[in-house]
Amino acid sequence: MECAPEISGNAVNGLGEEKFRRPEIVYWSPDPDAIPHGRLQRWFYTVNPNEPAIVEQRAARQKILDAPLPDLSERQVERTPEAWTEALQQYVSAGHCEQVGATPLDRDWLFEGQETPFSNVIVIGVQHDYEAISEAPKPRAGGEVMRQYSRAAFAAKAIAGWLRRSGWDADPVTGPMAGKITLIPPAIASGFGELGKHGSLITPEMGASFRLSAVLTDAPFAPTPPRPFGLDDFCLSCRVCEDACPPEAIFPEKQTVRGETKWYVDFDKCLPFFNQTHGCAICIAECPWSRPGVGIKLAEKLARRAGRLAAV
Ligand code: SF4
Ligand code: SF4
Repeated sequence: MECAPEISGNAVNGLGEEKFRRPEIVYWSPDPDAIPHGRLQRWFYTVNPNEPAIVEQRAARQKILDAPLPDLSERQVERTPEAWTEALQQYVSAGHCEQVGATPLDRDWLFEGQETPFSNVIVIGVQHDYEAISEAPKPRAGGEVMRQYSRAAFAAKAIAGWLRRSGWDADPVTGPMAGKITLIPPAIASGFGELGKHGSLITPEMGASFRLSAVLTDAPFAPTPPRPFGLDDFCLSCRVCEDACPPEAIFPEKQTVRGETKWYVDFDKCLPFFNQTHGCAICIAECPWSRPGVGIKLAEKLARRAGRLAAV
């Protein structure tokens, strides 16, 4: 806590602010010195620095990040927007990721001070191994998170490379130091799912147990539409993540954050525990939607209930 800045992370995030503004990077900044919580971000790496499960995965990810992108081809491949979006499925079929989506870029998703010339976002989802993430916050779960960040980075760079070889410039954005853009809003807009009470995205197929990366480009992808499935009502009557969170950081009600009412996690309560245990993920592992096969059944049940109510 000696490293904690005077400003609250919730203030950086805009908790209680009625007016919209772009998000600011509160943590996982590409340059820790550029954010108030940068000393805490550096301290995170002093916990378990030699843990083999994490060191190995971190090195693998760095290798992927350091690999150069291919040159931009002068000949631009033309496809229909639908064919571009359909072609993304090759990365799911090859096992590089579990889900892909596309949406026009809303510049409100860019972090304050960031700009990009691109107009579309491709969103990529990679699922954790459930057994490994269920050990959160033990090192095996931390290693699994790093493994999925590696896969997410690999998929983003593979898609960006494919686009550049096809004559369309592209910028891969990989977590956790995404730097340029918040990834959850484009994931919701491109049909991944909805925000859960634990502040993480939930999809019927992967629950909350996945990581995201993205590619910014002008290639004309057809948007994949949003897929609401009634999660708000479910979260209102579920307290699993609230009860499982050791520092009780998960708000039971939605909060106003930069002009939007949404589920929110108290950053100042979450972070000390998260840092102390070198990563956490208890809330996403405990969420019932994350259990393999359960999310699809829950989504079907919610759809049936909505159908019955609509028929009354
Ligand atoms: S990551 Fe851990 S500490 Fe943070 S909200 Fe989730 S369970 Fe709580
Ligand atoms: S644990 Fe329950 S309340 Fe929390 S996000 Fe998952 S479904 Fe919603």
